[in-house]
Amino acid sequence: MPEGLNILTIKGVSISFGGLKALSGVDIEVIKNSVHGIIGPNGAGKSTLFNVITGIIKPDSGDISLEEKKLSISKSYQLVPAGISRTFQNIRLFKEMSVLDNVMIGHHVHTPMPILSILLNGKKSRKYEEITREKALEALEFMGLEDKKDEIVKNLSYGQQRLVEFARALAAQPKIILLDEPAAGMNPTEKINLLNIIDRLRKKGYTLILIEHDMKLVMNICDRISVLNHGKIITQGIPEEVRNNPDVISAYLGK
Ligand code: ADP
Ligand code: MG
Repeated sequence: MPEGLNILTIKGVSISFGGLKALSGVDIEVIKNSVHGIIGPNGAGKSTLFNVITGIIKPDSGDISLEEKKLSISKSYQLVPAGISRTFQNIRLFKEMSVLDNVMIGHHVHTPMPILSILLNGKKSRKYEEITREKALEALEFMGLEDKKDEIVKNLSYGQQRLVEFARALAAQPKIILLDEPAAGMNPTEKINLLNIIDRLRKKGYTLILIEHDMKLVMNICDRISVLNHGKIITQGIPEEVRNNPDVISAYLGK
């Protein structure tokens, strides 16, 4: 693969929890402006990989580089300025707050003002609040959720809440968006909508990494797929290569 095409390079990442090797020598290259799927049975290490990329977990060994620069995230607030945002396997939203407020939190990290001065509500902070609101509304519009902006999150369907989280990740204006099982709990119509959103983001130049169990969705949307089993990459490539790989089939059948 020619240099410069990659946006994210994961090299030799290993991490153990007690005696359990959750990731073992994982190498993945994510091509810029692509959708990269991460699949594998439950407990394979997929979410752990996201936790390592986002600095929640420090690996025992290995490196992660973003655009050829070593990525070292030790505090969660460093993540978005580095160009990465994510969603979680278990939705993490402020359920009692409005949709718009939840998404505005995603953009806030870009405002160069401390939270205190925003709260004091000076003239400058109002300007930043306006920008934050504008970016949040754009992200909601992209998800087709603009008419839900004033709803309280807990009143939305599960699938809609997943999109609110996605909108929050998008409002942060990242280069890479990590989605941890975004289709979980979605109905077939919501899944088609999700597929569309991901495709439109790719066309806009974003890079997405997608952990997903719905094979149809994964095979339809991903440019490349990495398959994890027991913390190890068993194969990676384009969907057609992965689909028919006997190791993938047996990993899923539990043989
Ligand atoms: P997946 O997302 O592929 O289902 P995970 O990455 O969540 O799998 O988990 C991989 C393995 O690591 C599992 O056996 C899980 O129990 C374990 N694990 C994940 N995170 C931790 C942690 N923080 N502490 C201890 N064990 C963990
Ligand atoms: Mg997981």
